[in-house]
Amino acid sequence: MTSQASTTGRITVDPAAIARNWTALAARTGAECGAVVKANAYGCGVARVAPALAAAGARTFFVATAREGIELRAVLPEAAIYVMNGAFDDARLLREARLVPFLASPAALAEWPQDAPFALAIDTGMNRIGLTVAEALAVTARPALLVSHFASADTPAHPQNAAQEAAFAKVRAAFAATPASFANSAALLTRPGAHYDLVRPGIALYGGTAADGVPPLEPAVRVEAQVIQVRAPAAGETVGYGAGETLARQSRIAILAYGYADGYPRIAGGSDDRPGAPAFVAGQATRLVGRVSMDLVAVDVTGIACERGDFVELIGPNVDLDGLARRCNTIGYELLTGLSRRAERRYGPL
Ligand SMILES: *Cc1c(COP(=O)(O)O)cnc(C)c1O
Repeated sequence: MTSQASTTGRITVDPAAIARNWTALAARTGAECGAVVKANAYGCGVARVAPALAAAGARTFFVATAREGIELRAVLPEAAIYVMNGAFDDARLLREARLVPFLASPAALAEWPQDAPFALAIDTGMNRIGLTVAEALAVTARPALLVSHFASADTPAHPQNAAQEAAFAKVRAAFAATPASFANSAALLTRPGAHYDLVRPGIALYGGTAADGVPPLEPAVRVEAQVIQVRAPAAGETVGYGAGETLARQSRIAILAYGYADGYPRIAGGSDDRPGAPAFVAGQATRLVGRVSMDLVAVDVTGIACERGDFVELIGPNVDLDGLARRCNTIGYELLTGLSRRAERRYGPL
């Protein structure tokens, strides 16, 4: 899509910022630093992000599905690529693309070709995917990697973290020569004892907050939406569906070409009970007014030099991803992975 076809949302992703974040994370561990690029690199665009990470030095990548792995293999012919959701009836495809699955059940182990590499996924207490510790101890095949995943690493003081490490230690003792990987972004940043041989940061690469009390790295995504119209409703008028927000003053309202169909949360809207989510335009912080529509949203620009055609920031350096996520009862991960597929995409500095 060209910018001539705009009047739309505009998403800018900075692969160089993501690469700088990887370099900063890699400097915080003695282990190899991989990169999690599942879900299209957390919505950022894997075809642009993965080469930037590889150029920064990343050699090992993690995706969720075989399809994502095949897509990534086309971009990175040399990288080690793990498929975290494992293998099903797709062993041939995985092998052809030299993808290494996390095998998470005795059934998956039985199906997987004996001569092909795999990672042994151990459930150390999350009850998501992985063999139980007892099942893992009974495995006779030789995995290329032992992996587990923290359920509560974003809460560093949570007692589950140490309990999971203790369970993992039992399996590691039985596979003494096998390298191990446990840490997501949060554990990389807060649990240096759990780095083992290979760490798997995701969200921190993309500028999201990984753990309570740990500031995020550099923002890498800016979401802006163009002003289609500026209106001047009087005090006492209402804005949007359901007349949910009544204006307390004579106002200027900018109508933006962005909505919940762009992955912008409907709950971000304002009402008489709760101010709308933050936005930023012409150097000034402001907020949404009224409900978020499918394709449109209203922002208060009273007293702000904002005109038709201008762009308003909805997420980015001035509208913190995690602050917006908290305001919307969600997490930065969900906002990033839900980013609009119809907005214009640009890659470069924010
Ligand atoms: C998504 C994921 C990661 C990365 O987690 P972040 O919190 O984004 O750093 C690591 N390991 C597994 C198994 C995952 O599913």
